Amino acid sequence: MKIQTHIRPTCDTARVAFIDQTSKMGGAEHSLLDIAKRRLVDRCRDRVILFESGEFQRRLESFGVDTVVCALPSAASAVRRQSSIVRHVQSLQALRTLGKRVAANAVDFDVLYANTMKAFVAGAMASRRSGMPLIFHLRDIVSAEHFSRSNRLVIRAMCRVAKRIHVIANSSATADAMHELVRQRVPIDVIHNGIDSVDHEKAFRLRDEHRRRLRTELSLDSTSRVIGVFGRLSNWKGQHLAIQALEHLPECHLVIVGDALFGEEDYRESLRRRVAEDGLEKRVHFLGHRHDVPELMQTCDLALHTSIAAEPFGRVVVEAMFARCPVVAANAGGPAEIIQHGQTGWLYEPGNVDQMVHAIGVALDQDDDGISQRALIAATESFGIDKKVREVSALVKEVVGK
Ligand code: UDP
Repeated sequence: MKIQTHIRPTCDTARVAFIDQTSKMGGAEHSLLDIAKRRLVDRCRDRVILFESGEFQRRLESFGVDTVVCALPSAASAVRRQSSIVRHVQSLQALRTLGKRVAANAVDFDVLYANTMKAFVAGAMASRRSGMPLIFHLRDIVSAEHFSRSNRLVIRAMCRVAKRIHVIANSSATADAMHELVRQRVPIDVIHNGIDSVDHEKAFRLRDEHRRRLRTELSLDSTSRVIGVFGRLSNWKGQHLAIQALEHLPECHLVIVGDALFGEEDYRESLRRRVAEDGLEKRVHFLGHRHDVPELMQTCDLALHTSIAAEPFGRVVVEAMFARCPVVAANAGGPAEIIQHGQTGWLYEPGNVDQMVHAIGVALDQDDDGISQRALIAATESFGIDKKVREVSALVKEVVGK
């Protein structure tokens, strides 16, 4: 089947100063990299303002994207999703100073565009200072399940601090939580993340080769069923549930792809301990953070998504659909909007290991690739990167033109 995915995005002359707090490659950074790369092809002269140097900056620059680093003061770097009000008050002055630096680095630009939470706080302060409009690309569910009360208060306050704010939510789930928090005061548009399918297509063409390579690397025989869990290690991402499920799936191996990116090292160690205690070392394979996710997806018989709390979007779910790898995902947040149960993948109640095991069994028993084909078509229709970047650029134009 030939599917057309690559249409050139339309040019947008507005200059965007993107802001992102980290240089580690989480989902938000992968998404921004794709947006910045494609806008560059259209000769949009944007800039990405980062709060630290590292891998993300290197990758942006390797594509020719202009970057600048405004270091995050230490008082602000200690703030976490569950931080108290005291921590926030301590960090506020630091973020104000950062907002000033961000504004200074964005003087020649038309719009500030915050891609992460701390970038939003600094961006709101920069917007207040400079009078520039602020787009906030919301990639988190701002509910009590994910954020402390004080964090939520700060988000509400920053919506007022910014001169002119427009929110892009990466799913209806993130939009709904934001509406509830700010009580309809800010304009919010839902634009689902776009995913670049080119590397998945390339990897699919060499599927047998990739399967052989991984099976040799992990000393698996060619008949072993391999379940892949992709994403950074974090308690709410629920990788421990995949290990629990494996106890009920004696014929399967589990590959865990991803590492503790944002201070979740204790969780990573708890996963390793659990595997050792349960004697599962031969069947659970920790691959760490990898740059060859498309190739690894070709080696798996199934991609398993395990988040316990609602997933804001879930790039890995759409990536697996592009990879033609059957997906079993937790039925909340983004995956519930992406997958049609029984049609393009399988959904189970988040945290319910019995249901998860059942869905895995059904998925592995399928002997035709109807679901994977339908998933590929659905992903291509709804999450193609070029279409999504065009939607973002149209919104940028609208905000700047107002
Ligand atoms: N990823 C990666 N290497 C890894 C694990 C994950 O490149 O070892 C990528 C994955 O392909 C996806 C992103 O990290 O593009 C994770 O995005 P997702 O929306 O699933 O989760 P988030 O990090 O935003 O919570």
